[in-house]
Amino acid sequence: MKYFTLGPVEMDAETLKISQNPLPYFRDESFSDINLTLVRRLKDFLKTAASTRIAMLTASGTAAMEAAVSQVFTTQDRLLIINGGGFGQRFVEICRWHSIPYEELKLAPDEPLTTQVLSAYQNKQVSGILVNVHETSNGRLYPLKALSTFAKKKQATLVVDAISSFMADPFEMDDQGVDIAIFSSHKSLSVAPGLAFVAINETTWKNRINKVAPLSFYMDLSSHVQQIERGQTPFTPAVGVIIQLSDKLRRIEQMGLDSFLANIESRASHFREMISNTPFLVPEYPLSNALTPILIPDDKAEHFYNRLRSDYGILVNPCSGRWANTMLRVGHMGCLTLEDNNKLVCALNNIAAAS
Ligand SMILES: *Cc1c(COP(=O)(O)O)cnc(C)c1O
Repeated sequence: MKYFTLGPVEMDAETLKISQNPLPYFRDESFSDINLTLVRRLKDFLKTAASTRIAMLTASGTAAMEAAVSQVFTTQDRLLIINGGGFGQRFVEICRWHSIPYEELKLAPDEPLTTQVLSAYQNKQVSGILVNVHETSNGRLYPLKALSTFAKKKQATLVVDAISSFMADPFEMDDQGVDIAIFSSHKSLSVAPGLAFVAINETTWKNRINKVAPLSFYMDLSSHVQQIERGQTPFTPAVGVIIQLSDKLRRIEQMGLDSFLANIESRASHFREMISNTPFLVPEYPLSNALTPILIPDDKAEHFYNRLRSDYGILVNPCSGRWANTMLRVGHMGCLTLEDNNKLVCALNNIAAAS
């Protein structure tokens, strides 16, 4: 099966190979060294200062979203949530669960997020902004610049769920004015699920985190940060995923972050070029390199999904909600090639011709 999925993604041979090794013991110095190097490389790739704190949670990405929101904000805050799909809605549900007051900015699919749209909130109380910079549920990418400019004006804390954008699109945490960045192991980092990260800049760490009591013992960000600073975790981590990830980061460092990003960018643009010569349209909103949403004519998304899977051994991602019948999502993350793109487009054309 060839995985054009959005996480877990097609893993490379090196990752699969080291996954066969027995796991090392983790409460010793050599494992601490692995963790310390892993965190240093992540900070390099995030383009953030050494003073940024990183919490490494053994969990899926949603735990990092919840830990960030619930340990940074309180019932005294008022958050603005950019809600353009399933993951924006998840931020809404997390705030509701923790009784943190919020307002939703809902955008129509063809409505861009601009300074002007944000100016409607200029005179309202906004102490934090939550955004999924790439709304994976429909592939929409938001402009960080407009958001961080607005956040600065309001002196609001900008929390960016970059889970499917980090390591797919250029991301510069400090220069782009991001206070908290969230990401996980199994999207563009292309290893197994199991690790989720919260990166918190120094200002936010000092002004926010230590002032809010953790709502969960297991997810206490302070204890995770304190422990990782000496290369450890408060509890047993996903040791196997750490081994995969540290090897993957080492290889990305070797080839250079820019080359890694250029590769995924070239796979995405090659696919978009190929698909433009077919009956499958691509929505007009800005896209991440992580995935291309394609519109399937005649409400036949499920039919195409099933045929790709059973006749061609190709797995893409269906959509839910309003896009369920009309859109499929094609991932570009992980170990895929331009030749894989050719096979997928060829398969889509064949299915269209037969139906
Ligand atoms: C995958 C993803 C998540 C996290 O989902 P989990 O199932 O908890 O890993 C959160 N936000 C975005 C934008 C994602 O793409």
